[in-house]
Amino acid sequence: TEEKFDVIVIGAGMAGNAAAYTMASRGMKVLQLERGEYPGSKNVQGAIMYADMLEKIMPDFRDDAPLERHLVEQRFWMMDDTSHIGMQYRSDDFNESRPNRYTVIRAQFDKWFSRKVREAGATLLCETTVTELVRDPKGKVIGVRTDRAGDVILAEVVVLAEGVNGLLGTRAGLRDTPKPETVALAVKEMHFLAEEVIDQRFGLKANEGCVIEAAGTISRNMAGLAFLYTNKESISVGIGCLVSEFAATMESPYDLLERFKNHPSVKPLIAGSEVKEYAAHLIPEGGYKAIPPLFGNGWVVVGDAAQLNNAVHREGSNLAMTSGRIAGEAIAQIKNRKKPMIKENLSLYKSMLEHSFVIKDLRKYKDMPALLHTNSRNFFTTYPKLLSQAAQSFMRVDSTPKIDKERATTAAFIKARSRLGLVSDAVRLALAWR
Ligand code: FAD
Repeated sequence: TEEKFDVIVIGAGMAGNAAAYTMASRGMKVLQLERGEYPGSKNVQGAIMYADMLEKIMPDFRDDAPLERHLVEQRFWMMDDTSHIGMQYRSDDFNESRPNRYTVIRAQFDKWFSRKVREAGATLLCETTVTELVRDPKGKVIGVRTDRAGDVILAEVVVLAEGVNGLLGTRAGLRDTPKPETVALAVKEMHFLAEEVIDQRFGLKANEGCVIEAAGTISRNMAGLAFLYTNKESISVGIGCLVSEFAATMESPYDLLERFKNHPSVKPLIAGSEVKEYAAHLIPEGGYKAIPPLFGNGWVVVGDAAQLNNAVHREGSNLAMTSGRIAGEAIAQIKNRKKPMIKENLSLYKSMLEHSFVIKDLRKYKDMPALLHTNSRNFFTTYPKLLSQAAQSFMRVDSTPKIDKERATTAAFIKARSRLGLVSDAVRLALAWR
């Protein structure tokens, strides 16, 4: 109980590193605890990293961060079993001097980020699992207990950046256990291929990258998303669906991934690759309504541990970095004013977060998770099939008059969903998107 820190940060992922860096570079005495062998060893991401949010923490990160490719193209595919219908955006404008989005490999990226955190003055202890939050008799969090032999480690405030499971927060009664319908289970493989082969298959040159995101019958009636992201010499391929739906359907994530990899639209892109890594991880997908309390006496929670993840736009690491940075700034301000780290003062973190895109975006889509999850069969199977049939009917030139094709397409939509069903799906989607 000898040494007391200004702050203890639990976790060295995106959120924890952002928080620790922000506070250490403001001269605070920061201890960061990470259960993994090294930062990044436990962390899984697609991974697209959004530059704007990192620039706000470290403007010159491009000098030495391990970045794979910057993205110039994004494709969205709606799939049935043999086809995909899609939207694609590619722009040479993304070949800018400070690109906006990069693919990264988290194991390398987190190691680099953590080095910056230590260079800023924070102390990092790896292979150290925090087992318990320690409170004073009034209930204020005053430190942590770890699985290392020894005493309690004390601090003015504890930042929980422990990721999606949030075991510590749950155990300490700061929040409920995340519900199966608010978390997705994603599996991912790294397919290695020569850089030139990736360039050729995706039409890329010199560090340009492409991402494909796909939904449809691939997730077997469940609400899910598959992805394919180009790294320099590998392609990340993965798929995720809600835990509640995996439980209800007894589908296996591995089978879904195999299906996706063997889809005729995907197979040629990864043909001949060597799979060297396989990972599985949860993603918080409950959106705004699943956000637990964000602060209390002596603690704040950031990143995935606070369920800050925008499933609609598939953004998580940027919300993690931003919430970490904002928590760090709020705590530094409170310390500068020499105020105690109690609930009344730490509410500053929440109000700052509410003014950022993090809460504004999540609030915008607050009804989206429930809509998709209660209508997964329609949105992920019925409509993709209907759209594919419609596209095929119009692209296959035969002697059927176009008016008959139009009528047949309309009839197929009405047969599958009824007029009322179609209107209600459209209205509900529009309302949830507002
Ligand atoms: P994490 O990165 O999970 O870090 C938590 C850390 O806390 C870990 O290092 C863990 O070991 C440590 N820890 C946990 N408990 C303890 C304890 N008791 N004691 C000590 N240490 C502890 N986001 C994007 O922006 N773009 C993407 O392309 C993208 N793709 C994704 C693809 C997949 C397959 C998955 C699973 C997620 C993806 N995400 C993506 C989401 C993104 O990965 C997360 O939002 C982000 O990693 C959250 O960062 P974090 O710091 O909150 O949590």
